[in-house]
Amino acid sequence: MLGAIIGDIVGSYLEVEEIKAKKLKKVRDYTERIKILDKNVSLFNDSCSYTDDSVLTTAIAAALCSNKDYEFYLKKYGLQELSLGLDKYGRKRFSPGFIHWLTSNEQGTSLGNGAAMRVSPIAYYFNNLNEIEANALKATVCSHNHGEAVSAVLAVCDCIYMLRKRLSKEDIKSYLQREYSYNLNLDLTNLQKNYSFSAKAQDTIPPALFCFLLASDFEDALRKALSIGGDSDTIACIVGSISEACFEIPDYMFNEVKKYIPLYMQEIILKYYERVNTFQSRKILKMMR
Ligand SMILES: [Mg+2]
Repeated sequence: MLGAIIGDIVGSYLEVEEIKAKKLKKVRDYTERIKILDKNVSLFNDSCSYTDDSVLTTAIAAALCSNKDYEFYLKKYGLQELSLGLDKYGRKRFSPGFIHWLTSNEQGTSLGNGAAMRVSPIAYYFNNLNEIEANALKATVCSHNHGEAVSAVLAVCDCIYMLRKRLSKEDIKSYLQREYSYNLNLDLTNLQKNYSFSAKAQDTIPPALFCFLLASDFEDALRKALSIGGDSDTIACIVGSISEACFEIPDYMFNEVKKYIPLYMQEIILKYYERVNTFQSRKILKMMR
């Protein structure tokens, strides 16, 4: 969960740059994109902000800490966020489709990446895959009742679960390719040069999984995720959410990320990790208190 929020925050301002390029029918320049691979370039800066990915991940965690009514909490936190007006970058806080869902009583049929980015708290909360998948579905179909969005959610959950069970990356990769027909034999340089912005689940999940599979530690995973551009906050959010299952979050990131997380969100993070036993729950609680 916290890995997702960290990814969202470090990717936030880059998504804005990526969208600017997309509006000009271009992809952001390769040399600009790969600057983030330099460890001397800070992941955190004044342009960072939490975005919808963090808000909705928090909503799922809040639901888990109470009655598990995912739709209720997604709407509650979503509407609360919407009432704040434009975001730091002068944009609406959610996509038009999601705003429609928030403010209507209709089931959503989005094929966007928005359910996959918010689902990680479920994948750490339950201890067997059936329960994880059943709850992930419940948290998804209210707004993203589309085959691609559902597959994306299940792929992220399966990946986290298999990492918790200490399966090797090779085995996880084979499983995901077989089960979801995702092509995970991608080329990092090709993505950095040519990957263009898309918020579709099927365009987001394979590159995100690929960046994670290539990574050597938590920070490396985020830097690789950001270096390919596209929907940067969401890709980094998903990569962070998965990476948390096997890589330790570096100490320095806790103090950094706290600066960007609203108090109500910090409270839910603590509540959540008091209930969830991951290999770094204790450390997260200590560092976030
Ligand atoms: Mg976002």
